[in-house]
Amino acid sequence: MGELTTFPVSYKVEGKRIVIVGGGEEALSKARLAIKTTASVVIISANIEADFSDLPVAILARPFEDADLVDAALVFVADHGPDGEAAKRAARAARVPLNVVDVPEECDFYTPAIIDRAPVSIAVASEGDAPVLSRLIRARIEAALSPNLGALARLAGSMREKVAAVLEGSRARRFYEELVTSPEVEAELIRGQGTERADELLAQHVEKGESPGVVWLIGAGPGAEDLLTLRAQRLLQEADVIVHDHLVPAAAVEMGRRDAERILVGKQKGHHSFTQAEINALIVRLGKAGKRVARLKGGDPMVFGRAGEEIDALNEAGIAYHVVPGVTAALAAAADTATPVTLRRVSTGFVLATAHGAESEELRHWASLASTGLTLALYMGKSVAGPTASRLIAEGASASIPIGVVVRAGRKDRVLYRGTLGGLAADELELEDGPAIIFVGEAIAHGDWRGAIEIARSEFKVA
Ligand code: SAH
Repeated sequence: MGELTTFPVSYKVEGKRIVIVGGGEEALSKARLAIKTTASVVIISANIEADFSDLPVAILARPFEDADLVDAALVFVADHGPDGEAAKRAARAARVPLNVVDVPEECDFYTPAIIDRAPVSIAVASEGDAPVLSRLIRARIEAALSPNLGALARLAGSMREKVAAVLEGSRARRFYEELVTSPEVEAELIRGQGTERADELLAQHVEKGESPGVVWLIGAGPGAEDLLTLRAQRLLQEADVIVHDHLVPAAAVEMGRRDAERILVGKQKGHHSFTQAEINALIVRLGKAGKRVARLKGGDPMVFGRAGEEIDALNEAGIAYHVVPGVTAALAAAADTATPVTLRRVSTGFVLATAHGAESEELRHWASLASTGLTLALYMGKSVAGPTASRLIAEGASASIPIGVVVRAGRKDRVLYRGTLGGLAADELELEDGPAIIFVGEAIAHGDWRGAIEIARSEFKVA
């Protein structure tokens, strides 16, 4: 964070002038940008070479004079001669923000690639580093946005007083969200049929009254922001409060609205962490207060996520909830290593289990599952990896069953280990920091574990 050397703002130019000093192609291209605004655009140059004839600009075919900067909001200098030098001096003296075309070190500001859906504008900027990339991004965003966005924004703007009189705070926000995403309202706008549908929508929202709170139990995936589902992303943007665990990627938490409250309840060394009972009480309290709560969990909420307890608490309090699945760590680990966790004639099933606090009976059961070819994915087992492997062998699993470990699955900095159950039991291995999945089963041998650290196949000890 904190690495931008420029700050993107929307700068008022109405009623002012945008002065462009220069008469060539560079001046023309800045003029095309400037005329997107309501400012009056003035071109000043003794040599008008480019064709400005189809642009609504004023042309002063003469050298630059200091008085040209009166009422100027911005100055572009696209003249590399004495006229340009004079304009730069004058702009600095008058403290008018200056852009010297193609000379970044002399610029007070850069021009972004602009997506214009007036009154909505989107600027894509790269601090002068990669204008081609900015234009590419602009093209993609252009393609994704309705051409009627501007009209929808104006409609929302025109209803502001009306809405403020009947709805406030989050209720008004919900109305606007629906207004600007409603296909019916958009269709009405295109056909120029007035705002009947929009008014109807407002009446509905007023009638609905205070909406009750809701809790979305959302899976954030294993740590890469682009493994978040589209639904998760949408709900995060609707949430008033985001209650998240420590394992949830920061980029996912960032995705929420800027003014959404964010509460970290996860376990982190050296910080106060909430007990499960406190988390249950928190989401119930927020739900009762009418908040829309995104309860964001790493991986999938229903897999070792204590979602069951939270759902019980919500049910008891009569608060609505919905579950949004996420990519669980074991499946991210399978993807990282191209390991088919089920495989014809090799593995007829896939078991998600936790090695943490496992009882002998459970271990006996898993040992027999692994012996019949099923793939085990062990969660929360890193600190007990060796002993768990020994115990599985003691309960009858073969020491030659392939194993694989993925630390920080789904992330760029993942680390892989592979070997056999016997090797894992024998080796006093220091695994890398971070959460880990331990796979046990014949299917592991069918994955692509290139780059994995080999776990030594020394003699194993039986616990
Ligand atoms: N709900 C989560 C699991 C939470 S329990 C999910 O579905 O993935 C926490 C355990 O999950 C960790 O001890 C580790 O075993 C596993 N885990 C979570 N994120 C992981 C990741 N990125 N890579 C490997 N294991 C992970």
